Amino acid sequence: MSKKRDYYEVLGVAKNASEEDIKKAYRKLAIKYHPDKNPDDKQAEEKFKEAAEAYEVLSDAQKKQRYDQFGHAGLGGNGGFGGGGMNMDDIFSQFGDIFGGAFGFGGGGGGGRTGRRVTRGTNLRVKVKLNLQEIANGVEKKIKVNKYVACKTCHGSGAKNGQYDTCRACNGTGAITRVQQTILGAMQTQTTCSACHGEGRTIKDKCHTCHGEGIVREEEVITINIPAGVTEGMQLSMSGKGNAAPRGGINGDLLILIEEEEHPHLKREGNHLVYDLNISFPDAALGCNVEIPTIDGKAKIKIEPGTQSGKVLRLKGKGLPDVNAYGKGDLLVEISIYTPTHLNHEEKKALEHFKDSKNFAPNPSKKEKGFFDRMKEYFD
Ligand SMILES: [Zn+2]
Ligand SMILES: [Zn+2]
Repeated sequence: MSKKRDYYEVLGVAKNASEEDIKKAYRKLAIKYHPDKNPDDKQAEEKFKEAAEAYEVLSDAQKKQRYDQFGHAGLGGNGGFGGGGMNMDDIFSQFGDIFGGAFGFGGGGGGGRTGRRVTRGTNLRVKVKLNLQEIANGVEKKIKVNKYVACKTCHGSGAKNGQYDTCRACNGTGAITRVQQTILGAMQTQTTCSACHGEGRTIKDKCHTCHGEGIVREEEVITINIPAGVTEGMQLSMSGKGNAAPRGGINGDLLILIEEEEHPHLKREGNHLVYDLNISFPDAALGCNVEIPTIDGKAKIKIEPGTQSGKVLRLKGKGLPDVNAYGKGDLLVEISIYTPTHLNHEEKKALEHFKDSKNFAPNPSKKEKGFFDRMKEYFD
């Protein structure tokens, strides 16, 4: 385990900071590193937890005093947060009110009682496969998911007729407090009540439909609006569209993983599209018009007489839009000249006739740029 940072340093406050300043500093960090703002960011999650841990101690007069006197050692090994630190659910249920509605977390989570644990539904993950045309224009997808939704019979409470008893094990607080004697004096540790899972209450009679869980599995059709320009492996998130939480908590999120279908002719390079165009030697020498595929159909392009193999034509703005910005990539048409592999007698004779013509001799000054130079030019 890595060495713990000083709690004052974590919150960026002075040792003599007031209660209000400590709260303000924590609120700022908690919002900055909030998981809803930093989805799938492990580092932000760590910072979020670290700040909560620091606040948990510095906002509690007794713990603060022990910490000021003895440092981390004063908080007692694995009893408090010495072990694995706080988990996300604990943070939300204990300090949810710090966000003051910034993320839609209420105080006590419905019951009106403070300190009661708020459960959160699990995230739901789906994959969506898109073709290049859908990526270019953005698309609305309707997908069927099998997920947990709130039970309609009991409105997600799990309780028949909505009746509860106060949990006898914890007297409705949702937590069990133990006092331990240590060399530093009496130490209080708090754990989630196992009888009520921290909810502070128990169900009188279980709902028959959901067996007291408050959630049932159901198929739901979700409409997802996918913005133009997404890329393979990108993850979109729809807040609250994941699984419902048991007995009325916060819904999880729906995470949408983007997969890209390969286009039969066009290759993607960032926001650019690349088309490999093969033309015959006579067409390259004499010039011609050819039809090429684009995202939304076809386009006619002109090949100038004397075109070299390796030449790249750029069709500006015919690529893909940027998901984060304005503007579009280009369609790059990379020309290669096909050398015939089978010639009949007549064709051979005709070509041999030109073999020694100086117009047919390679001319290095007319040669197209090599692969790397072209890549540098277009993809920088
Ligand atoms: Zn309890
Ligand atoms: Zn039910």
